[in-house]
Amino acid sequence: MSASSPQSSKGSPSRLQALKAAKKAALKAGGGSPHGSPSSEIVRDPFEKALEAKSVIHGNTGLMVDGAMRLHRNPWDAEHIESPERLAVVEARIREWGLWDRCIMSPARLATPAEIERVHTAQHWAQLEALGQQSVESIRQTCQQQFQTIYMNEDSMRAARLAAGGFIDLVQAISQGRWQNGMALVRPPGHHAMKAEANGFCLLNTVAIAAQDALHRDPHKKILIVDFDVHHGQGTQQLFYEDPRVLFMSMHRYESGEFCPHLRESQFDYIGQLAGQGFNVNIPLNEKHLHDVDYLNIFHQIVLPLAYEFEPSLVLVSAGFDAALGCPEGEMCLTPPVFGHMVQSLMSLAYGNVAVLLEGGYFLESLADGAAFALKALLGDDPVRLGPMDPLNESVFESILNVISAHRDHWTMFPVQEEYNISDYDPSTSEDCHEPLILYRGDSYLEARALNMGKTEPEDCYAKHTPEKHAELMAQLTEIRKTYPNETLTSGGMDIKRVALTFDELMTRHSNLEEPNHPERPGRVLNIYKSHDKFGLLDRSNLTHLPSRRATAEEIFLCHDAAHYEAMSQIPEKTQDELESLAGSFDSIYMNPDTFDCALLSCGNLLNVVDAVMDGRAKKGVAIIRPPGHHAESDEPCGFCLFNNVAIAAKYAIEYQQAKRVLILDWDVHHGNGIQNMFYDNPNVLYISLHRFDNGTFFPSRMDANYDYCGENQGEGFNINIPWNGAGMGDPEYSLALFNIILPVGYEFNPDLVLISAGFDAAQGDPLGKCCVTPEMYGHFVHHLQRLAQGRVIVALEGGYNLNSIALSMTMCTKALLGDPLPPVSILKRPKTSAVESIRNVMRTHARYWDSLKFGLKKVPDSFEELKVQAYSSPTKKVTQQIPIDMSKSPHGAKFESLYIPSEYGHFSDCHTVNTISSSAHSSDGIQLVDSKRRPDGGDSLASNFLTTSLGNLQLDNSTSEATRTSPSRTDYYPFQFGNNNYSSPSVNTITKTVRTNSSCAVVDTTKKTDEPSS
Ligand SMILES: [Zn+2]
Ligand SMILES: [Zn+2]
Repeated sequence: MSASSPQSSKGSPSRLQALKAAKKAALKAGGGSPHGSPSSEIVRDPFEKALEAKSVIHGNTGLMVDGAMRLHRNPWDAEHIESPERLAVVEARIREWGLWDRCIMSPARLATPAEIERVHTAQHWAQLEALGQQSVESIRQTCQQQFQTIYMNEDSMRAARLAAGGFIDLVQAISQGRWQNGMALVRPPGHHAMKAEANGFCLLNTVAIAAQDALHRDPHKKILIVDFDVHHGQGTQQLFYEDPRVLFMSMHRYESGEFCPHLRESQFDYIGQLAGQGFNVNIPLNEKHLHDVDYLNIFHQIVLPLAYEFEPSLVLVSAGFDAALGCPEGEMCLTPPVFGHMVQSLMSLAYGNVAVLLEGGYFLESLADGAAFALKALLGDDPVRLGPMDPLNESVFESILNVISAHRDHWTMFPVQEEYNISDYDPSTSEDCHEPLILYRGDSYLEARALNMGKTEPEDCYAKHTPEKHAELMAQLTEIRKTYPNETLTSGGMDIKRVALTFDELMTRHSNLEEPNHPERPGRVLNIYKSHDKFGLLDRSNLTHLPSRRATAEEIFLCHDAAHYEAMSQIPEKTQDELESLAGSFDSIYMNPDTFDCALLSCGNLLNVVDAVMDGRAKKGVAIIRPPGHHAESDEPCGFCLFNNVAIAAKYAIEYQQAKRVLILDWDVHHGNGIQNMFYDNPNVLYISLHRFDNGTFFPSRMDANYDYCGENQGEGFNINIPWNGAGMGDPEYSLALFNIILPVGYEFNPDLVLISAGFDAAQGDPLGKCCVTPEMYGHFVHHLQRLAQGRVIVALEGGYNLNSIALSMTMCTKALLGDPLPPVSILKRPKTSAVESIRNVMRTHARYWDSLKFGLKKVPDSFEELKVQAYSSPTKKVTQQIPIDMSKSPHGAKFESLYIPSEYGHFSDCHTVNTISSSAHSSDGIQLVDSKRRPDGGDSLASNFLTTSLGNLQLDNSTSEATRTSPSRTDYYPFQFGNNNYSSPSVNTITKTVRTNSSCAVVDTTKKTDEPSS
């Protein structure tokens, strides 16, 4: 299979025509009301995106380097830190680590005047072109009089234009699907350059020029720009300050304005204006010497939640490495590998269409390593495991809460902090209230500098280390380099045998002879395996099939009593009547004579995967196994489970392999009571479970599944229950849990192996879970978890009873393990109130064990606007009023030349109307179409009811419910409808296509289609 892109896989022309026609018709019909008319609601096909991703695999990485950019140098200061050597050293490191040959070279070219003038004035760049040709002395004088920290020579503008033109082409190649992603190693940097002014080593704003070019080609594009250069990219901020198509997020050293560029507008209360309100996110850092943990928390608390809600179609990274250890400008302490982590996390967005652009970074060795790790991430290599996390810096904690306070009115993904009433606020009594302080001390600094202007060199021109300091920092970097695994420098991630997969059809012999329609049926693993085949995953060169084996008694004893094993080992000798009577003595268990053998295979196959991953024969694994395991207790089977596969695997990895700490994430919709009990006092196994709890009434219906059961003795804090109270949890709720709890705690725990108890019964359409997690969301979980444990992640099947849903969900997980780009997750609704309450409870309870959960302890003001009014008028606080950004410096003034998406687009809370049109594009997959109906009215509840009862392959039919209810089996575990055959048919599905229009909400009637739709 050749590299393919999301763009090229999006179906036939006729389908696109149909979509266009539908959109046109919707617009003609006048659309719905902007906030959703009462007669409209969301109707989406839950499997549409997963099916569309079928042929999408990780494509090529483009790399842009051009020797001409090394000719740009400071003609009067040969020691200047923004030196040609910066590119040379990065290039050398990339070659040394074997990355160069794995990239496709992307040529640089001069940006055209038209391209430049989408961002800069004609006069701006003409002046710079002319200036470069003058004498050195004349250039020097002009630069020092007219600009802040700028130098030039005769080659500078050529370098800047090559950077801009080349980056435009790189971004376009990615947008068109020719390449997966790419990196541009350019100089001069660009993010400080403004519309009509060079600034801070920057002549042309490369990232802005490429973004404007992408918007020029497609006005509906949504671009996320993440700027982690240690300086504020104020040029980029100004250029998109009113444009909601660009979400600009910048984390930068600020020190209340005392750090360069000393701007009031770099503060967190600058959130964008007019339509762009909420789309400019400044994360100012008020202390230096920050560590990996601080930046990771910024990503988990702010960058990723907002990025997911924004749902960009393109991601641009202004990648400065001046926050890396040793950089004299940044004075931060980030390890080079963390840049790989940040880039990898962004690759979950926009189908992995990510373009990374070099900005600053002036400590050559950490710059080279950092840039190489960023490129490795783009190439699909696993991020290097980070060491133990430092404590979160208190000022970063404050900064994050400041940003959340300023933005929570504009986004739905900041619900974790409770609100306090700003008018009642009393700082002396409200310790749990966070008061965002808008301090600015930059003006006095600037005044002092203005007085000195012309007399001395501007003192903040650049910083440089003494030789002693340099040697000290090199020694620190050398220590960090010892933690890079050897394989990092030699082997590429995509080409080697990456994923170990196990499946054995013999496991289908375990079945319920009495009730053939029992949900835990043989077809589950068959369907999952077939889906892997349909998606072409089984033949992939980087997937390896493991032989099958049975677990030994000794291995079972790792977690179970001998008596339990003995009792189960009698199964093959018993008659069916005896088996039914034995099974009846347990909670929700059935047995046939093959059950024991299947349970041994289920466990043994998982242990085979553990061996392969821990031995290094594979990097990660997937086990398509049954019967499941997580309910099995040490002394008895429970809830369809005989032996506790994942618990045994964790113990096995610790006792027989070299793992010291194992993270078990259990996202099965039921609480894994067995795993919790087996490791309740064990600090080496961190158990995190997401499950329906329903205040103790959801299976297994025990109170110890609640959030306040944290583990005991040495294991206290190592058991985290995230209990949902109610049905209907989906991607918004699971995203919150992932970013606010699972990932931050996962980094703090720093496991050697991640095991996922992967039940798919919280998936859309599951008859037991009645939740609505999409297949792609499961893939995104796996994508992000691979940043832990050097990428050693194993996905092991537990429950999940909708055959379509589990097949696609587990397939998405395997695709994520293979490094395939994932379809984006859509956060279409505000997270449910009860789920937010659950997350708060978990964070409050566990904040004493896990530093990064303390974000749940603080309340934030209910009105940021009101707070600003109070703050600006307070004589006691050093707060400076917001100064309007001079939009005359922006390319289009306050207006846009093209239609942009209204701000409501980013804020889905009020938008209930997303129209659908059915399409038969997937009928070649043997999937039949079901009429997807336009629902008359009713809003959320009706929509979710519709989704859980009518979509997918789940068609509830109450007429058969009586018969099922009289079934002798224990029915409390699964709903009485389970006996209905309809939901078991694997071939029924609905195919609908979501169409969003730029009027935000409009409805298209969905009609039944039996063949290719025509326009
Ligand atoms: Zn910088
Ligand atoms: Zn389950």
